[in-house]
Parts: sequence; C-alpha cells; structure tokens
Amino acid sequence: MFIYNPEFTTLSTKQKHKQITYVCNICTKKRIILFPAGMEINVDSRGLSEFVDIHKCKDDKLTALILFVDAQYAVRSQVPISSEEATTSTPDDFASIPVPVPRKSGLTKIKIDPPENFKASVINEIVVKDRLRQLQYSLEPKKTIEDRDVRIDSQFCFVNIYANVSKKTDVAKAKRWFKEIANLLEQTVHIKDEVFTLLISYLEEKLKKDSFIREFKELEILLNGSVTVPISTKQSSKDFYGRSGCIERKLTLADCNEYHKIILACLDNKNKNLLDIFSLMDSKMKLTYFLSAMYDLFCNAFIKLEKPQFFGTSDLE
Ligand SMILES: [Zn+2]
Repeated sequence: MFIYNPEFTTLSTKQKHKQITYVCNICTKKRIILFPAGMEINVDSRGLSEFVDIHKCKDDKLTALILFVDAQYAVRSQVPISSEEATTSTPDDFASIPVPVPRKSGLTKIKIDPPENFKASVINEIVVKDRLRQLQYSLEPKKTIEDRDVRIDSQFCFVNIYANVSKKTDVAKAKRWFKEIANLLEQTVHIKDEVFTLLISYLEEKLKKDSFIREFKELEILLNGSVTVPISTKQSSKDFYGRSGCIERKLTLADCNEYHKIILACLDNKNKNLLDIFSLMDSKMKLTYFLSAMYDLFCNAFIKLEKPQFFGTSDLE
C-alpha cells in the first residue's frame, strides 16, 4: 500500500536501501519496494520469500499480488489474488516461471502457539483468515462461550477474524481492536508466525483497558515487527538521560535505564528486526513494556523505525 514519505525517498537516493523493482503483469506498471538498508530477505527451503503488494491495478481495481522474491531481491513470480475468490488465480505467464509456485487451494492452516502461562482471560478462541498470504492462523479454543463471538473483516476484506472472547471482555471494544488488527495485517507486507503468539500475549493484557489510541500505534509496531529495523545512534544514546524529560509519560530512573538498554541494543543496528531486539532484552521485560518504550523512543526521535515501503514509479514523479 503506497504511503508517500519524502524522507525515505531522499534516503534512497543515497543508495542506502536495497530495493525490489518489478513490473505488474496485469497493469504493466513499474512497482518499487524499498527495504531498510541492512534488512536481509529470509528465504524458505524453496529459496523464496513472499511479500504482498496491494496497488491500484488495471481499470483502477485494487489488486493484491503475492511476490515470490529470491535472496538476490529478484521477483521470480507474481500471483494475483482477489478477496472475493479468496484463492490465487493462475498468472498469465505461469508456464514461463522459472521456479515452482505452489498452487494453493484454500488456506494453509497454522496453529498459534499460546503464550507461556496463557490464561484465556480475554480470548477463548481466535481464527485469522489471511487471504493475502493464503494462511489461516488459529488458537485452539480453551472454552467457547455463547454470544461472545466477534467477527470482523478488514477494509478490503482480505483478512477476516473470528474471535470468542471471555465474559470479562467488552464485546464492542473487542470489535474495535480486531478491526484495527485486521486492517493492520492487510497493510503489512510480510508476517512471521511468531507475531501471533506475541499478539495474543499483548491482547491478554491490553484488551481489558479503556484506552486504545496509543495502543493501536504499539500494535502497528508489533505487527510490523518482523520487517522493521530499529536504529539508534551514538548521539541519541548520549542525549537520552538529558532529554528523557521530553517523553510524555513520567519515567522513573529504573525506566530510564530500561529505555537506555533498548537504545543500546539498537545502536547502529543494520539487520536485527524489532522482534530480534525484543528477544535480546532481559526475559523479565514484558512485551507491553517493550512496545510502549519503543513507541516513546520512536516518537521522541531516539530511535528510527525503518520498514519496507512500496511505491509506484508514477508516485515518485
Ligand atoms: Zn497492477
């Protein structure tokens, strides 16, 4: 999905970022994906990694393409999908594709590993149908309670979520959360399975609370975690204690020390993604605390968050 970011374009002219360039087989438009400078593409056993590009295609119709990208940043094939059919359609030049593309019929089912000490205090059951990636993520039901169902579609209907929530949970509020999650998943170019375990753990703590404006920003950081590279500099590490007062929430000295640890973990970072940085933290640091700190540090320019961005060439003219 295209978001124009002039800063990012300036950076790219300095050749700091790797990029994928390809021509859409349907509308013949040239498309560009810019990656954070040090981000590696993690390929699977086929030597490929899947990315999703949604753009205004032929006849202005919004189309999603799954791109199969190799380790050299070349698009080896592209498969259009539509939210109505919910299945991949055969690309026009399928026969000429040099690598085998799995013909998926229906969605591949993946079980979400429940977080450690999972209590189902908020979510009893969840099924996320992600038609962009042809995957269905589900958490085994602990117990399903009558009339506690939430069903949500994302903006363009590529992602559908079914959840059964506990009696303690406000269903209207849960709907807002799941709508946000569905929309964010639809806009995310690449997802790692482990994000769903972290998501459940995040929701267990946050869904009971009233606020969500700030939390939705943290949620966005989490869901993009596997393709976001957080970067800090020596200067931001040096300035932190002197400038930490500009952070909206009141930080104790202990907080400041934790925040500073995160800055140090991201110092001149080139290829660790946000989830890698979280795994480097003390195991006592909670995910909610980490995300909240990351958001504070990002908003106050102590840390930059770089992630892949899509452009059409006409967008840059
Ligand atoms: Zn197109």
